[in-house]
Amino acid sequence: IDWTEGRGWHDARLMPYGPLSLDPATSVFHYAQELFEGLKAYRQANGSIVTFRPYSNAARFNNSAARMAMPELPEDLFVEALELLVQTDREWVPTAEGHSLYLRPFMIATQPALGVNYPSKSYKFMVIASPAAAYFPGGVKPVSVWLSRDFTRAAPGGTGFAKCGGNYAAAFVAQRQAVENGCDQVVWLDAFEHRYVEEMGGMNLFFVYGDRLLTPALTGTLLPGITRDSVLTLAADLGLKAEEGKLSIDEWRTGCESGELTEVFACGTAAVITPVGSVKGTEGGWSVADGAPGPLTLRIRESLMSVQYGTAPDPHDWVHKIC
Ligand code: PMP
Repeated sequence: IDWTEGRGWHDARLMPYGPLSLDPATSVFHYAQELFEGLKAYRQANGSIVTFRPYSNAARFNNSAARMAMPELPEDLFVEALELLVQTDREWVPTAEGHSLYLRPFMIATQPALGVNYPSKSYKFMVIASPAAAYFPGGVKPVSVWLSRDFTRAAPGGTGFAKCGGNYAAAFVAQRQAVENGCDQVVWLDAFEHRYVEEMGGMNLFFVYGDRLLTPALTGTLLPGITRDSVLTLAADLGLKAEEGKLSIDEWRTGCESGELTEVFACGTAAVITPVGSVKGTEGGWSVADGAPGPLTLRIRESLMSVQYGTAPDPHDWVHKIC
């Protein structure tokens, strides 16, 4: 779908997958006016194909668009585009448990103009799809995380809450550092003191104290994950206390040392719920409980996946049937 100043959205069309032809002066190449979303289509137990909370992705997309001076897309149009693609590609939605069709809606600024003063006067919204295998083929495996002190993902007033490519471009060097230090994933800390936990590379974090869950509050510097929001609701359904707040890395460490902090997990569309087994930073490392997936982590994972795959009721109307 194209957007042009004065005309709005026009020319919605379905095209075979293939290369795009763009002028070398196209503004997205120079000023990075780009944003995206990520969600999945699941084949449910009864054969229906569904997506999970697509209107939440549409709303987050529009919040990102407003921050990037890009046009908002009516939510129904966003969801219709997903529906059309999934219906067309329905035989690519895998049948195996834990597999899915990953959907990537995105928008780029298309005006060929090198002037930096104004946002682009034209945009293109597209959706592409790719089958995705189960994230943990051999069972759920805890990840090790690296606390990033050298780099910051987002600062107040910046683009941390928006799902724009620039956030990810700036993150690669920190993710590489995590791997060089023998860890799987980077954990971002606050911009000023590098002391408070924000989120993981591509997932939000939850800390489990017995039957109480704590997740970093949405202060504008982290991505408001749709899985995070679903976990807050599911936790309440399961009779757990779930809070949004602040947690320092000292509290993370001492909580693990005293045994008060019983589990830590990350959540996001790609890996659903991932246990965090160990933590490392410049000052050394520690493990979370015995480093194995905790019972509550696995219970929340199971409740979320059973709604997505249609093996449990969907009391919050999260599932959106496509065909
Ligand atoms: N934080 C970041 C930086 C991410 O890229 C993602 C993945 N979109 C998330 C959190 C989790 O968001 P969601 O649950 O909507 O996938």
